[in-house]
Amino acid sequence: MKLIALETGRFEADLMQLAGIPGQALLPVPAWLIEHPRGLVLFDTGLHTKLRTPEGQMKGSFETTVVDFPVGEELTARIAAAGYSVADIQTVIFSHLHFDHCGGTWEIPNAKIVVQESEWKAGHNPKLVEVGLYTPEDFDLGHDRLLIDGEHDLFGDGTIVCIPTPGHTRGHQSLLVRLASGPVVLTSDCIYFATMYEQMRVPPFGADLTAQLASMRHLRALEQQGCRLIFGHDAEQIRALPIGGLS
Ligand SMILES: [Zn+2]
Repeated sequence: MKLIALETGRFEADLMQLAGIPGQALLPVPAWLIEHPRGLVLFDTGLHTKLRTPEGQMKGSFETTVVDFPVGEELTARIAAAGYSVADIQTVIFSHLHFDHCGGTWEIPNAKIVVQESEWKAGHNPKLVEVGLYTPEDFDLGHDRLLIDGEHDLFGDGTIVCIPTPGHTRGHQSLLVRLASGPVVLTSDCIYFATMYEQMRVPPFGADLTAQLASMRHLRALEQQGCRLIFGHDAEQIRALPIGGLS
């Protein structure tokens, strides 16, 4: 098995909110490609190419978010550069349905999508859609889908397991990937980057801050049991991963 980070652009974030540090930073937006003997799996799909056009800009909650998304960094190009084809992706697991985690879904035509049922519901909640927290056109495109409720072992062999980590959003989940070199947990937005984890800081914009802190503690317990945590938007950590992926 192999785990490869695909950086699909970056977005500008307020470090004060995330880590108590003044200033802004460009945070990477990764999608994760997992090569498993039974098929190719993606965890999240990154940014939508429409964000490059004036008409495709976000509205509401994310309206002021600045993205840096040059041509060549879209999901299709990143997957090709890694030596694979989007047509061969069989499964897309969503950590959650915010714009920077499901934007490339339209590029993956043949996959079944796997998401927590509570997240799918939140993603269609008219109030949350109206304020721009969710954009169903990004993720509800008619793919076959599997709505799950709680922990889910994708292939039944313990190698790729969805671990609910609610709080950032209602149905947020992390992903445990059991590589030959040891187990890794992709935390997605439960923990953006290392500084936030060191401080056990919960940013003020999540759906349920108490639940998010409990989820962070759950991830810390997994780390204590030997799992390596890979954070959702940690530039230093993501760029230090081997180009050919972890195996
Ligand atoms: Zn998010």
